[in-house]
Amino acid sequence: MSPLVDRVALGLGAERLLRGKRRHALAIVMYHGVVEAALEPFCWHQLPVAAFDQQIAWLAQHRTVLPLAEALSRLAEGTLPEDAAAVTFDDGYRNNLTRALPILARHGVPATVFVVTGRRGHDTRLWPDRLWKAVRDARAKTLDTSTLGLGTLDLGDVQARGAAYGRVVHAVKEVDVSRWDELLDDLVTRLEPDPSAPPDADFELLDDSELATLDAHPLIDLGPHSVTHPILSRCSNEQVAHEVAASCAELAARHDTPPPVFAYPNGRTQDFDERARHAVQLAGVRFALSTEHGLARRDSDPLALPRISVGADLPFSRFRLLLAGA
Ligand SMILES: [Zn+2]
Repeated sequence: MSPLVDRVALGLGAERLLRGKRRHALAIVMYHGVVEAALEPFCWHQLPVAAFDQQIAWLAQHRTVLPLAEALSRLAEGTLPEDAAAVTFDDGYRNNLTRALPILARHGVPATVFVVTGRRGHDTRLWPDRLWKAVRDARAKTLDTSTLGLGTLDLGDVQARGAAYGRVVHAVKEVDVSRWDELLDDLVTRLEPDPSAPPDADFELLDDSELATLDAHPLIDLGPHSVTHPILSRCSNEQVAHEVAASCAELAARHDTPPPVFAYPNGRTQDFDERARHAVQLAGVRFALSTEHGLARRDSDPLALPRISVGADLPFSRFRLLLAGA
């Protein structure tokens, strides 16, 4: 729906109507990174700090925001307060500490950061972020993506680059995980990125000491999000078991107890299967989060809980309607 239609709907009391039936559901909000200003080319998963601040301030004022594990336990027990919400971040970007935490602290809002345990530190990037930088810095004016079946993509201006980046990310996710590295190397080579371009500090992941700082903060919990962020349903049995068990074990070692919640990488229904669920249960983890849209209810599958995904293109009016259950 258009922002105008959403604003009219809000004005007519759509939130109240929607929430009437959904008061006892839990809104689990999913963020990734928080950046100073919208990235160019467009990058859905890095939210400008002003939008983040507005949303967190609204949540603090209009929702009971609980630590995720407490919210899920109370949802299961039937003791969840009305209008409850929980805040999550996927992937473990450094900007969760530098940009998001000060805002969370100012509003007293707790959050869980789901970490890709094998991809930490200054020198690593997740593959979509490596691709984004290469698209931003490309000297090539077009990109031949015949290996992905997308033909030749235009890189003529920043709009075209944002669109090309989005399409390539989507297509790479459909390819077998074992081919991702080789495919990325090939795409980056074709893009001919300018070696003198500035670094992509917005995509740096938390290192060990930063993780420890977050972990020690009273408002923040850490959770496992696999070791290398593959799509689990396309992994071998051994890989699925390892990605889940090793990431959970690392988090368990921090607190001498299994982490209460796992977040599946990519998280659509087709991205995790029975093997992933089984591995989560084997690790002693009680709940798992998908990226499917919706509010979590008492009768929701505890190993495939829906969330509300927030990206850089979400208007505030739509954010409020989604929180109300739209
Ligand atoms: Zn992720």
